[in-house]
Amino acid sequence: MSGDQLLPGEEPVPEGTDEAACRETPDVNGAYPRLTEDQIARLTERGQHRSTAPNDVLIQEGERCETFFVVLSGSVAVVEDYGTPEEHVLRVHGPGRFMGELGLLHGQVAFYSAVAREPGQVLVVSVDELRRLVARDATIGDVVLRACLGRRALLVGQGAGFRIIGSRYSPDTRRLREFAIRNRLPHRWIDLETDEEAEGLLRRFGVGPEETPLVIWRDTTLLRNPGNAALARLIGLPALPAAGCHGDVLIVGSGPAGLAAAVYAASEGLSTTVVEALATGGQAGTSSRIENLLGFPSGISGAELTERALLQADKFGARISIPAEATGLRPEDDDHYVVAFADGSRIAARAVVLAVGARYRRLQVPGIERLEGTSVHYSANVYEAQQCRTDPVAVVGGGNSAGQAVLFLAGYAPKVYLLVRGPSLEAHMSRYLIDQVDAHPQVEVMLHTEVTKVVGRQVLEELDVVDNRTGRHRPLAVRGLFVFTGADPHTEWLAGTIALDSRGFVLTGPEALEACARPEVWHGRGRSCMTLEASLPGVFAVGDVRSGSVKRVASAAGEGAMAIHFVHRHLGHSAVPGSMGTPAPVGGSDVSPRIRHKESAWLA
Ligand SMILES: Cc1cc2nc3c(=O)[nH]c(=O)nc-3n(C[C@H](O)[C@H](O)[C@H](O)COP(=O)(O)OP(=O)(O)OC[C@H]3O[C@@H](n4cnc5c(N)ncnc54)[C@H](O)[C@@H]3O)c2cc1C
Repeated sequence: MSGDQLLPGEEPVPEGTDEAACRETPDVNGAYPRLTEDQIARLTERGQHRSTAPNDVLIQEGERCETFFVVLSGSVAVVEDYGTPEEHVLRVHGPGRFMGELGLLHGQVAFYSAVAREPGQVLVVSVDELRRLVARDATIGDVVLRACLGRRALLVGQGAGFRIIGSRYSPDTRRLREFAIRNRLPHRWIDLETDEEAEGLLRRFGVGPEETPLVIWRDTTLLRNPGNAALARLIGLPALPAAGCHGDVLIVGSGPAGLAAAVYAASEGLSTTVVEALATGGQAGTSSRIENLLGFPSGISGAELTERALLQADKFGARISIPAEATGLRPEDDDHYVVAFADGSRIAARAVVLAVGARYRRLQVPGIERLEGTSVHYSANVYEAQQCRTDPVAVVGGGNSAGQAVLFLAGYAPKVYLLVRGPSLEAHMSRYLIDQVDAHPQVEVMLHTEVTKVVGRQVLEELDVVDNRTGRHRPLAVRGLFVFTGADPHTEWLAGTIALDSRGFVLTGPEALEACARPEVWHGRGRSCMTLEASLPGVFAVGDVRSGSVKRVASAAGEGAMAIHFVHRHLGHSAVPGSMGTPAPVGGSDVSPRIRHKESAWLA
C-alpha cells in the first residue's frame, strides 16, 4: 500500500492538518511490513482477538510491554509523549501491521504509546509466545526481527525516548551519553551550553544547572546524575540474576566473542548468563561498517550486527545483564567458580568464558584528557561525526579501525587527516581499506607523523604534529581527534588468578598449562588443558583478550562458538555437540600431536 492510499474507512486529510496523524505510515526498508493472511493465521493460533475503541491505549510509553499486537481492522497510532502538551504522532498502522520494536523482544520499556484511533480489532499475542514463534517460524521470525531492528534505528534517528540534559564539558554527561549511545537506546542529548531548550526544561523541573546531568522521561521521571545502572533499570535492561544463582556457564563480556558463546551455549541447552560492563557489542559495536565479515558483501554496521546477535542469544534463552562489571574470579571447592561484581554481587557457574576483549589506548599527549569526550574520541560513530560537519578532523593510527574511521568521517567532515607514525599503511591496514583511503578526495594521509600537542581549553582548536624523520613541526587546525592506536586487554582483575602473557592477554592451551602457577588443579582430571582453556580448568578465554588471537570479529565469534564445545567437555557431557555424538576423549590432551602443532602455528 502506498503512503497515499487511505485505510478502510479513512477520510482524506483535510487541508492544514498534521498528515502523519491521519494516514498510515508508508513502509521504510522493511520497518513497517504488512503480515500476510497466512502469517496472521499462524499468529492467531497463539493469540486472541480483542476489540478496540478510539483512544484505547494498547502500549503505554515507559512501561514494559508483555504483548504483541497485530492490527486486524481500524488503525493504531504510535504516539510520543501521549497525554502531554508535547504529544505527537510518530506513525500510524493499519490492518496487517504490528506494534513493537526491539525493546519488545529484549524486555525493555516502550519508548512510545500505541493508541487505537477508531473502533477495530487487534490480535493479541503474549511476548513469550511471540519469542517462541520467532524461534521456530523462519518467515514470521524474519519479518518481525527485521522490522524491530529497523524501527529501533528510526527511533534513535528521531531522537525519541528519554532526554539527557547536561553540559558537553561534564564527564558525567559524557558517561551517560556513551552508555546510551553504545547500548543503542533511543534518547536525545540537550546540551546545557548551546541548546535553548535546556534552560526552559531546568526551570520547569525546578533544577539548577549544578544538579545536571539529568535524565528526563515523559515529564514524569527525573533522575539527577544517575549511575549507568540506574539508567539501565529505567529502560528495563536486565539486572544481574539474584545472588547465589548457579548456572552452567557465565560469559563475561558481550562483544562478538561473548555473544557467539552465548548463542551456542544457550542453543545447546546450557543455562547461560552473560554479563557486560558497559555495552553489548564491545569494540565491534562501535564500528561504523564491518566489511570483511563473511556473508555481508556490502558490510554491516557494528550496531546492527550486535542487535542481531543479541536477538539470537535472547531467542535461545541466554540472560544478558548490563551494566555488570566483573571484578574477581575465584574457584570454589565443589568444582564451580564465583565471579564477583563491582556492585558487590556474585554469581556462581560451573564454567566461565572470559570474552572481555580490549580497550583502545590513550594517546600520551599532555592535556589530552580534558578534551576527551568533547573533541578527542576513541571511536567514530554517527553521534561524534555529526559534531564535525563543518571542521576538519584528524585520525591517529595505521590499522583497520583507523582506516574505517577515516572513511566514515570523510562522509561528514570537509577534510580528514590520517596521522600515521610508521612509513606506510601496508604494515597494519587491509588492502581494501588502503585503496579507499588513498582514493578519497577529502582524506590526506600523513606518514611519519606524531601528535605532540593539543591546543584548546574546552574544545580542540589545533594540533601540533611532528615529522619523526625531520623533526619539523606543523600546526593542524582540526576540531576533532579520533585515536585508534592499539588496545590493551581488560584483565587487571584477573592478574594473580590466571596466567597472563607479558602484555596482560590471557594464555590458553599448552601455553597456559606451562605458565600455570598451581599445576595441581589439573591433577586427577583425566585430561589436559584444552584449546581456549586458561590456566584454571573450566575457565576459557576467547576473542581479543586471548594471547595470540587474531583481533577480528569473525575470529572472536568463531572462538566464542568453539569454547562452548570445550565447556561441554569440561562439564563431562558425553555427547559433545559438534562431535557427531562421539564421547569426548579423556586422558591426555584433547588434540593429537599433529593437530597441536598446527594449532600453535595459528596461535602465533
Ligand atoms: C572501531 C573498530 C572497528 C573495527 N572494525 C573491524 C572490522 O571491520 N573487521 C573486523 O574483523 N574487526 C574489526 N574490529 C576489531 C573487532 O571489533 C574486535 O576484534 C572484536 O570486537 C573483538 O571481540 P571480543 O568479543 O573479543 O572483544 P570486545 O569487542 O572488546 O568486547 C569485549 C566486551 O567485554 C566487556 N568487558 C570488559 N571487561 C569486562 C568486565 N570486567 N566485566 C564485564 N564485561 C567486561 C567490554 O565492555 C566489551 O563490551 C574493529 C574494532 C574497532 C574498535
